[in-house]
Amino acid sequence: MQIEDKKIVAINYTLTTDDGEVLDKSDDGSFAYLHGADNIVIGLENALTGKAVGDKFNVKVSPEEGYGDRNDEMVQVVGREMFETDAELEVGTQFHAEGPDGHPIMITVAAIEGDDITIDGNHPLAGVNLNFDIAVVDIKDASEEEIAHGHVHGPDGHHH
Ligand code: ZN
Repeated sequence: MQIEDKKIVAINYTLTTDDGEVLDKSDDGSFAYLHGADNIVIGLENALTGKAVGDKFNVKVSPEEGYGDRNDEMVQVVGREMFETDAELEVGTQFHAEGPDGHPIMITVAAIEGDDITIDGNHPLAGVNLNFDIAVVDIKDASEEEIAHGHVHGPDGHHH
């Protein structure tokens, strides 16, 4: 069986930066996704298409096919009054907000100077090359329900 749309694919992976820093890793076969449903970055999904169980490969995914380029317009300085009064703010705090196009985006607190809070709406991995070390562990047909939902369900059925 080869990887194509509507397959549930389990992979082991190590994700590193160009400097070799490990950003993420899964090596016990527990990471699975639905192919062709935007569950993973497009550059990695494209590289997996047509692969079979046991295949191992490396792929470098550019920001274009990963989490996008950094956009300076996504960085803003706002007043502390923009936040709930009891919000604990420190550099690195993340929260959800509505993006310019109405879609939810993740905002990260980038700097705090008195009541001036610098927030960054870029994805933490925007502008970064993603180096994946991949091993294909399992491929199976997705269920009707998984295809309808656009994501993989757990071994016991539905997990949300
Ligand atoms: Zn579901």
